[in-house]
Amino acid sequence: MRAWFSPAYTVDQGSEGFPTRKFAMTADALVKDGLLRRTELAAPELPSAEELLRAHTAGWTAKAVSGGLTPEEEALLELRWSPALSLAHRLCVRGTLEACRDALHGGVGLHIGGGAHHAFADHGEGYCLLNDLAAAVLELQAAGKVSRAAVVDLDVHQGNGTASILAGKPGLFTLSLHQADGYPAVRQASTRDVALPAGTGDAKYLRILEEELAAFLARRPELVVYQAGVDVWEGDLLGGLALSEAGLLERDRMVARLCRERGVPLAVTLGGGYAEDPAKTAALHARTLGAAMEAAR
Ligand SMILES: [Zn+2]
Repeated sequence: MRAWFSPAYTVDQGSEGFPTRKFAMTADALVKDGLLRRTELAAPELPSAEELLRAHTAGWTAKAVSGGLTPEEEALLELRWSPALSLAHRLCVRGTLEACRDALHGGVGLHIGGGAHHAFADHGEGYCLLNDLAAAVLELQAAGKVSRAAVVDLDVHQGNGTASILAGKPGLFTLSLHQADGYPAVRQASTRDVALPAGTGDAKYLRILEEELAAFLARRPELVVYQAGVDVWEGDLLGGLALSEAGLLERDRMVARLCRERGVPLAVTLGGGYAEDPAKTAALHARTLGAAMEAAR
């Protein structure tokens, strides 16, 4: 087993609202819990321009790589561009692609990062500069590795950027299960959207997820890229859903089980998570990856 991760994912300058320490802390938690050896952490290379251009316009790709965002663009992104920020987000695009390749080879792929579902083709939003999820499935489809692929997005926030980029693309499907109100104010239509009222807890959430995921997987994707945001946890500062820790683990086990039962390779990305203590967020992310590893064995 290996997991894709780069120490360069930690970029504190310009990312004050987004605790980037959580990535290294998640890697550390996996090693400490004996789920992964440090030698099994694989560092992604930078993606090619073509990989970025699969999901993004030439104009936005140039800005993401070299800077020159307007103040309005940075306000919408909620991050300040810097060379280090650009590097982190570009490496994340390749990290998700590598995790998808691992999934296609061995059934499960892991990325200790990624899930930047609010990034659109021509701009970034909500801490998401580049959309690794959309770029990965578009690249794999263009390379002939898959003809049908899906993004399953269980972050508390709607996957607006992914939905927008992949809308109308033959063979590519998106499922977003999220909180009905709150961010993002304007939603984009996924292949299937399920909006849950604030306060939804384990039993109702898991019942709906099982039904929705089973119906969604009937589209027979050859790969599922999972945005496993842990901001659905009841203690999250930004999310309003109410999954317990046990419910969150059951969610991740359910995704892994339903994919495995159907023989669908699964690539896991982290997505959002905003516990008061980043160590808590990291522990939740580590359990998500642990659930996927358990399914791979
Ligand atoms: Zn989120």
